[in-house]
Amino acid sequence: MSVTEQGAERIEVPVSPQPPTKPKRAKPTPIDPGFHYHPLRKTVHVICVIVFFLLPLSNLMRIDIPRQRFYFFGYELWISEFAILFFSLMFLMFVIAAMAMLWGRVYCGYLCPQMIFSEASLTLERGLKRTVEKRLKWQPRARTFVSKTLFYLIAGAASIVLAFVFISYFVEPRDLLHRLLSFDIRTAGGIAGAATTLLTLLDFVFLRQRFCTTVCPYGYLQGMLTDDHTLLVHYRDENHECIECKKCVRVCHMDIDIRNSPYQIECVGCGECIDACNDILARLGNPGLIHYVWGERGEKLGTGDKPWYQKIGLRDGKRVVVLLVLLFYAAGLFTALSMRHAVLVQIAPVRATLYRQDKDGTVFNSFRLKLANRSHQQQTVVLAMEGLPGTHFVSFENAVVVNAGQTLERDFEIAAPPSAALAAGVNHFRLTSRVGNEREWFDETFITPFQDSQ
Ligand code: SF4
Ligand code: SF4
Repeated sequence: MSVTEQGAERIEVPVSPQPPTKPKRAKPTPIDPGFHYHPLRKTVHVICVIVFFLLPLSNLMRIDIPRQRFYFFGYELWISEFAILFFSLMFLMFVIAAMAMLWGRVYCGYLCPQMIFSEASLTLERGLKRTVEKRLKWQPRARTFVSKTLFYLIAGAASIVLAFVFISYFVEPRDLLHRLLSFDIRTAGGIAGAATTLLTLLDFVFLRQRFCTTVCPYGYLQGMLTDDHTLLVHYRDENHECIECKKCVRVCHMDIDIRNSPYQIECVGCGECIDACNDILARLGNPGLIHYVWGERGEKLGTGDKPWYQKIGLRDGKRVVVLLVLLFYAAGLFTALSMRHAVLVQIAPVRATLYRQDKDGTVFNSFRLKLANRSHQQQTVVLAMEGLPGTHFVSFENAVVVNAGQTLERDFEIAAPPSAALAAGVNHFRLTSRVGNEREWFDETFITPFQDSQ
């Protein structure tokens, strides 16, 4: 308190200090979120669906169980050529295993039909729900009923189509269509068709991506196939820039949080969380925190000053060896396929009796010719002999016509008159088969009476 000139008392009011003004934050400048994996995945999915439909329907690939044939990119392999069939399937398995070693779960996230159709079913269900809620101003229960009914109807029709294509990998499509139209649920093919349709429906309506973590063994095999250089999806936040928006969790259709670990068995490496984080943080002017990386400590995909082969995943000697083995395997398979003869010719002696001799001294040996025409045209097989002078075929037209897809057997004899002057006992000679320009040789023996039996 103080006294004024007029003697009045003046009360001094304490002046409160000005609140400190907060420094104004600069508005973040958004940056380009960069490459998006979602459109790439969806494009690959469309291509995969086209291939999935095309392979059996155009006879490019089918293990035709009723006909016992394997159709493989223009080649028609018979069940008797099981070795080639086995090695072809093994080759596909090796390719998938090598992909897992180099690029982690890329098969699961980008190529697997189960994942593709599960995602499609989920998108369909959500899309129908949204549309019905927007268009129908009814009670929520009624709208749910309509959207669910529509979803089950469409999923049911899609399951029939998918089951049809799937079984076409094992049964000729026209034959299958005939069974379908006649509601065949008595034969093995019909029962398999009905069961596959039902399983497909249950899978895409209820199981979906749960299949990947409960039934599919491939996910569990990853642990054995991956190592420190395998491509994986990794969250890196050394500067604590995560804003906890959780968009990366919301977009994950495997229902996981990639921030917990890059080695979660559920993670299929799809990259959806990468897109989500990039989009969110780009608005704040920061790069995303989730990336494809070459191993937990490796550099990000597409970065680093590395040679091209390291950029595509060939990051150590082990991977180069795996690639070379695959190339050799593919070359061997291709050679085996290209060396196949249109007609399978087998000749074997019939040794129920060693030989037969008639009254004039002519000696006969019996042989069996087996033919299988694996081509699509009629073929003619002609035999010739080398190294058995003076002999001839008996009761044999020696121009055997075999129709496309036909198998047949012919028994024939070779006769050696006394004038042939063959050695007593075993005579080695060669039979040659000719089909068009293809020749094959068969080393055989012709047996005449032994010295002491004459
Ligand atoms: S999207 Fe990115 S910022 Fe958001 S929670 Fe996930 S990691 Fe964090
Ligand atoms: S964590 Fe990311 S990469 Fe893994 S499945 Fe989920 S969205 Fe895909």
